[in-house]
Amino acid sequence: MKWLNLALLLSLGLVGCGQEAPVPFTWDEFRATAEQDPINGNYYYDGDQPAPDLDGLRAAYDEYLADFDAGQTITASDPGDEQALIVNLANGTSDRWADGTTVTYCVSKKSFGAQYGQVVAHVEAALGEWESTGANVHYTHVVAEDGNGCNNRNSRVTFNVRQTRSTSYYAAAFFPSYARTSRELLISTISYNTQNLGPWTLRGILRHELGHSLGFRHEHIRPENTSRQATCSTENTSWAALTPYDSASVMHYPHNGCAGTNTGDLEITALDGEGARALYP
Ligand SMILES: [Zn+2]
Repeated sequence: MKWLNLALLLSLGLVGCGQEAPVPFTWDEFRATAEQDPINGNYYYDGDQPAPDLDGLRAAYDEYLADFDAGQTITASDPGDEQALIVNLANGTSDRWADGTTVTYCVSKKSFGAQYGQVVAHVEAALGEWESTGANVHYTHVVAEDGNGCNNRNSRVTFNVRQTRSTSYYAAAFFPSYARTSRELLISTISYNTQNLGPWTLRGILRHELGHSLGFRHEHIRPENTSRQATCSTENTSWAALTPYDSASVMHYPHNGCAGTNTGDLEITALDGEGARALYP
């Protein structure tokens, strides 16, 4: 995720326009907000959302444009589900780890170098907070895989954690249904400098990213978020609600006109915990 990209681009499009109505991103602008990772090939857009290739990015843009043309009226795939979190849908069903799964991961010593220790500690702490909600899902750090083989071709772990030098996101993750090569938790070097993070911390950012790894989507895309501005990007509508809307959710952007009320660090709320237990009873 990242604070500035989308807002910056949109504001560039609006400068000097006076009372004119907001204009949607062009494809070129939208594509320019997305960064392709040179190793796994994913395009990361809306801060930290991975698309597997350019066709996937174009599909995300087409959905964004359709939502924009409809006046940003978003319709959930399953709006009648009364059950602050929303879960990604893969082929129409909840994108989650199977019951009883232990999700394993390695942290690349080679890529993090001097930052390895703090990254290990923050990932473990953020996962511990999700587990302490009572959600029935467990993550285990396989330290023995942290050597040179800790990459997206390592099938002995569920995912790997790798450093990047991205300037378009602090960190980015994946959903459970993703292929192994895309199941990477990426942490950019810009996230080590607290002056870059505003009110956030690296641990808070990882709480959000690891929420994606559990299957949770961005809370700010829900139709109940009536305060969102046109600068708050929309995404595809393949999701289902787990709890009532929560503007303070750890999965809700406060920036980019997304109208989150979590103005401090990114924290797991009581409703987030409820949603996690609903998905992993
Ligand atoms: Zn995110």
